[in-house]
Amino acid sequence: MYVTNVPADEMLPKSKDTTRFVCMSDTHGKTEFSFKVPEGDVFIHAGDLTRSSRMEEYERTIQWMASLPHPIKIFTGGNHDHFLDAVEGFYPQQKESILAKAKMAGLIYLEHEAYQLPESMGSFKMFVSPYAPTHLWGAFMLDSLKAVWESIPLDTDILVTHTPPLGYQDITSRGRNVGCPDLRNKIDTIKPLVSVFGHIHEAYGYSHSPEKESLFINACTSSVRYRPIQLPIVFDL
Ligand code: 5GP
Ligand code: MN
Ligand code: MN
Ligand code: MN
Repeated sequence: MYVTNVPADEMLPKSKDTTRFVCMSDTHGKTEFSFKVPEGDVFIHAGDLTRSSRMEEYERTIQWMASLPHPIKIFTGGNHDHFLDAVEGFYPQQKESILAKAKMAGLIYLEHEAYQLPESMGSFKMFVSPYAPTHLWGAFMLDSLKAVWESIPLDTDILVTHTPPLGYQDITSRGRNVGCPDLRNKIDTIKPLVSVFGHIHEAYGYSHSPEKESLFINACTSSVRYRPIQLPIVFDL
């Protein structure tokens, strides 16, 4: 499987019989980047669209994603994106307005739900979820996620979550693995082709499970200092 985070103009061209996925996460209100977003079939944003959940951050981010050429553009929320949180439920008007704008812009918002790509893009089964383990305080954060992950279908090919699973691309600058242990258990059972996430900015990058059944991608665009300098990660299936 081709996976890379080189600059767009250094990437291999996509072969006709594969689907190209372009992953970003944790843009935190930034929409201008020093790099070009690579072209592809499916664009994925794994949450933390905003820094402070201000309406103009969502609007700017939606406009930017609308300008991208990918035929399918999928996003979810992260712990900074309070207006999207249905569990908190404090912001129904804001959420409705954001989702209406996203829909108008041709974006697909997924909140803990499955999505199957069309046959022309390989019919891959995706599942996309904004949740993460509680750390300080945030949207979509829960103390126990075991029951939440239970509902991920076992035949998921591409799993997109805001949090990393424990043990993959989840090491903080203090050297601790802080991914979700319950997500890791679920992933060990499902063995998805690809697990895409963000959240731990300094753990950006990609790696494979030892048996190479799964590819793990931490697509955080923002550095640990919230500078949007980490390149999109692309894979072909
Ligand atoms: P964010 O606030 O954008 O969700 O995460 C920013 C940074 O906070 C991460 O890059 C990481 O350094 C830290 N962080 C987020 N979640 C956790 C966590 O669960 N545990 C620890 N130790 N740090 C976290
Ligand atoms: Mn973040
Ligand atoms: Mn934060
Ligand atoms: Mn986060």
